[in-house]
Amino acid sequence: MRAVIRFVDYETNRDPQGEVTFKALCVSGDEEECGAESEVCGDDESANTWMAKHTAKTGHKRFKRTCEDYALVEAKS
Ligand SMILES: [Zn+2]
Repeated sequence: MRAVIRFVDYETNRDPQGEVTFKALCVSGDEEECGAESEVCGDDESANTWMAKHTAKTGHKRFKRTCEDYALVEAKS
């Protein structure tokens, strides 16, 4: 019996039902990172505002930003 191998192309799209969220983590500091973390924000503007406030308060200037979304993968027909 011959094996039939089928190659399927997949398509990845952002799930319109899923929420896109942003978060900022302060990684300033030489020996140890500050580690202050923003709340999970529904837009990048809120994360940016949190960072600006944190910088004003502490002088910290380096952050790691995380953006999360949901993706849907479907086989192309
Ligand atoms: Zn900090």
